[in-house]
Amino acid sequence: MVCANKTHITLLFLYSIIAILAMWGLVSQSDNLIRIPIAIWTSIGAVSACGAMLEILIILRTRSALRTMKEQIKRMSKNSQVGLVMLEDQWPVEGLAGILNEYLTMIHKKMERLAHQQKELDLLISAGAADQQNTEAIIRSISDAVVVVNAFAELALANGLAEKLFGFDVNRDKLNPISEVITDRRLIKYLLPERWKHHLEPLKIEYELIVDGSKRFFNVTFSPVYIQGDKLWAIVMTLDDITHDRELVEMKTEFVNLVSHELRTPLSSIKAYTEMLLEGDITTQAGREKFYKTIADEADRLDRFIENILNLSKIESGILSNNFSLLNLDDALARTIPLVEYIAKEKSVKLEYTPPAEQINIWADADLLKQAVLNLLSNAIKYTDSGGTVILTATLDRTDDTYRISVKDTGRGISPSELSRIFERFYRAKSAGAKVSGTGLGLALVKKVVEEVHQGRIECESTPGEGSTFTMIMPIKPAGAAEDDSVVQEQETVKI
Ligand code: ADP
Repeated sequence: MVCANKTHITLLFLYSIIAILAMWGLVSQSDNLIRIPIAIWTSIGAVSACGAMLEILIILRTRSALRTMKEQIKRMSKNSQVGLVMLEDQWPVEGLAGILNEYLTMIHKKMERLAHQQKELDLLISAGAADQQNTEAIIRSISDAVVVVNAFAELALANGLAEKLFGFDVNRDKLNPISEVITDRRLIKYLLPERWKHHLEPLKIEYELIVDGSKRFFNVTFSPVYIQGDKLWAIVMTLDDITHDRELVEMKTEFVNLVSHELRTPLSSIKAYTEMLLEGDITTQAGREKFYKTIADEADRLDRFIENILNLSKIESGILSNNFSLLNLDDALARTIPLVEYIAKEKSVKLEYTPPAEQINIWADADLLKQAVLNLLSNAIKYTDSGGTVILTATLDRTDDTYRISVKDTGRGISPSELSRIFERFYRAKSAGAKVSGTGLGLALVKKVVEEVHQGRIECESTPGEGSTFTMIMPIKPAGAAEDDSVVQEQETVKI
């Protein structure tokens, strides 16, 4: 409600006095008493008219002031700003304008304070988001699988390795109860915050998990993270895959057993056969020849085994000097056939050799090349059942000046999961069958001879139950080969 100010009341009061005085002037000077009521009514009319005009003025001014204030407030709200209401003349709403401006000033100050707080909050949020991103980036870059559980037993963070191991999706499962994300009881009991309420040291356990059908071993560490003294903030679980280390230890133990077996078996039969010969137990020439042959075979086996170990360690330690000579490829390969022919015959495996279509000379380390080819041939015969076929082939590729030596068999083949590992030292594929003896060194040496000595590459294609093809692809003239073009004739005495 708008009220008239002092001037307004004073004016009204003055008009009223003038009207009354006029009325009394008329009354005192007039003899005609009829004029008195007219004067009174005229005075009342004048006072009322003045009052009404004043009221109309007040209403008009109030309406215009309110309109101005409304427009200004509308503008402020449109611009999301708070300022003061400005009127040219505040009468008759100076009271309202004053209160409104006080109120607006208070809101303005509050808004300023809020804007300041908002800015601080934004800064904190962006700092928090940057921290979170940094933490996530660090966790993603760790080579172990990592899972972080918050104090509410929910999944907080994890990296791709952990997602793969446990089959969850961190974006989808974030902040889900960890017991729903990881269901393995052996782990979950260490991931619940209740277990870590009191300040405890990290804990390590060993854990096995079947991944893609094969057993994997992990060293799992659970580390509680405390803040402000004893307040549990998170539990970090890291899984270090130790499968390879385990296998290496197992393979080394197996290798020691194999080495002693591979050394002892031929030695004891050589010893036994020699003793029988010396004691004259074998009376017929044919019998003696059979014994001599067995002794020679066992000595060969021993020799090949020792050669493999020695050459492998020589190549690995880098002490093998470059021993390239120019060889005729056909000659070099043809000479390996008689050295394994007898084993193939004994096993009733057909052995074939397809020489290169044209005569070519290659620079190679004669002894190592021969040993690599013999390893491939003896493997092919060893892992092929009787009635099967082994074919040695050599081809030339003039486009990149390389030659290929491949050994193809119709044997038992190698499973795809084992194919990637057969060139590792001491590795023996389970699909090869436990009955076949071996050391897991033959292919490791072939790979070293091809890649490190002859700067080539080795490939293997295999279908379980159908057979395998090993192919050595090597440059005709590897870097470091001498310029001397005279072909070296190989010695017949090279041992396998
Ligand atoms: P080993 O002394 O056991 O034969 P290698 O290093 O020569 O060792 O071979 C490694 C493994 O690769 C073997 O144990 C065998 O499982 C597999 N392998 C090699 N050659 C063949 C082949 N021709 N056919 C099937 N399996 C093979």
